[in-house]
Amino acid sequence: MSIADRHGRPLRNLRISVTDRCNLRCAYCMPEKEYVWLPREEILRFEEIGALVDLFADLGVERVRLTGGEPLLRHDLPALVRLLAAKPRIRDLALTTNGVLLAPAARALRDAGLHRITVSLDTLQPDRFKELTRLDAHAGVLEGIAAAAAAGFASVKIDAVVIRGCNDDEIVPLLEYGRGAGAEVRFIEYMDVGGATRWSFAAVVPRSEILAVVERRYGRVEPVVEESSAPADRFRLPDGTTFGIISSTTAPFCASCDRSRLTADGMWYRCLYALDGTDLRGPLRAGAPAEEIRARIAGAWQERTDRGAEERLRVRGREALVPRDALVRDPHLEMHTRGG
Ligand code: SAM
Repeated sequence: MSIADRHGRPLRNLRISVTDRCNLRCAYCMPEKEYVWLPREEILRFEEIGALVDLFADLGVERVRLTGGEPLLRHDLPALVRLLAAKPRIRDLALTTNGVLLAPAARALRDAGLHRITVSLDTLQPDRFKELTRLDAHAGVLEGIAAAAAAGFASVKIDAVVIRGCNDDEIVPLLEYGRGAGAEVRFIEYMDVGGATRWSFAAVVPRSEILAVVERRYGRVEPVVEESSAPADRFRLPDGTTFGIISSTTAPFCASCDRSRLTADGMWYRCLYALDGTDLRGPLRAGAPAEEIRARIAGAWQERTDRGAEERLRVRGREALVPRDALVRDPHLEMHTRGG
């Protein structure tokens, strides 16, 4: 069965945050000193995640991405991967990680049935990495990418958030690195999501500028023409190397967005920018029948009108989406809770 929202968008992609904890403190995501964490007893167990994925699959979800927080901080993540990989309706099972703990885990994740992996890497400079993330772990991330490339995943990607005055001089070096590492690089525009309390429009390097930098170095790039609801627009360099740009800030892709997000404690959000979500843990733990929870999911999706990133385009004097005190009151508004 497949269901559509008010704009005809199917429910197809589910991003599952398996923990709100992270071992990095990236300046564009978790810049504060202190955070309010989700209570441990409220974190979904693997069987609970599996049960919810079955209900989502009943309604058309066929792609699942595990994220966080940092998903590799979740104890025994390969066991969850194994559980989800055994579900034939989930055609695509992917993971987004900061890579710090990836090197020793890559083989076990692949063996457990994970299809694809995306590693976030914003800089090739160890000192800059430390300044940006507050952890001296750059070498470990590069080892993680090498281990993933060797483990035989269907694809390894590198996601880099480009920020003016921070790493905007590394667009070409990151492309070169990705080419050598066998990983497609995707440049992400800096987004004013919850948690990005230091965001300013001046720090956004727009897609047009990223393309101009690449063309100045490599010559004309060709758009890759494909039917896809993936967030990245892909391009090809004259030598055939491909890369992507996720331009959520200046050219959002709300019209084709089939993604929704489940937090580690079972709140379900239908837009990265949404201020309200639907509690699925409550009914699940109260023993509600599957049909009832499925109907709750279906009803909420069929009412979905969200076009959060497009609405942000119309805001004058655009600043950080959620003020710091609101994030403290409700950590569900944080990108690291919601799963980027
Ligand atoms: N810890 C994992 C990681 O680093 O990939 C998964 C969670 S992280 C929130 C997912 C992605 O969101 C990362 O690629 C990160 O760079 C991106 N992200 C976080 N804050 C962002 C922002 N303000 N703008 C754009 N991307 C952001």
